[in-house]
Amino acid sequence: MKIAVLAVQGAFAEHIARIRALGADCVELRQRADVEQHFDGLILPGGESTVQGKMLRDLHMFGPLRDKIAQGLPVLGTCAGLILLAEQISNDERRAYFRTLPVRVCRNAYGRQLGSFHTVETVAGIGSVPMTFIRAPYIESTRPGVEILASVDDKIVAVRYGNQIGTAFHPELDADDRMHGMFLDLC
Ligand code: GLN
Repeated sequence: MKIAVLAVQGAFAEHIARIRALGADCVELRQRADVEQHFDGLILPGGESTVQGKMLRDLHMFGPLRDKIAQGLPVLGTCAGLILLAEQISNDERRAYFRTLPVRVCRNAYGRQLGSFHTVETVAGIGSVPMTFIRAPYIESTRPGVEILASVDDKIVAVRYGNQIGTAFHPELDADDRMHGMFLDLC
């Protein structure tokens, strides 16, 4: 199995290490030609969604990746990656990206003081999972068909919709590979 990891900005190296440790192959998506090969799943890492969104467009990867996701390619979006997938960004109305995941997210939603924190919460189908949040979004609302996988203090932090998984936290930064395992099962 081959997993593509968007590698233009942000925490992609940690995802690659995790996927390889679980026994799957990885390819980095850095330019348009990389998107044209076959892969079985896609990871959109954390980082800065505005920068990633701009680079996706400048590098002409945006359209082909959106089409693949819309056609059912399994995708895991973490933090900024979740923002890239979201249909709506409540505090940045004009700036949504792939819009394939029918949720509304709020960017940098925890404010300055709680900008980064760590907790442990239940993920549906997995159990207790360590969660690291870094200037994270949370999900304010979901449309029908979106399964809520986890909430922290009544804020939705992980969802699944068909072949798309979105997390507000960074599963690649904790010593727990079960979110990636869930994603590989989907692939
Ligand atoms: N604050 C970032 C954004 O808005 C997301 C942070 C992250 O990915 N850790 O894109």
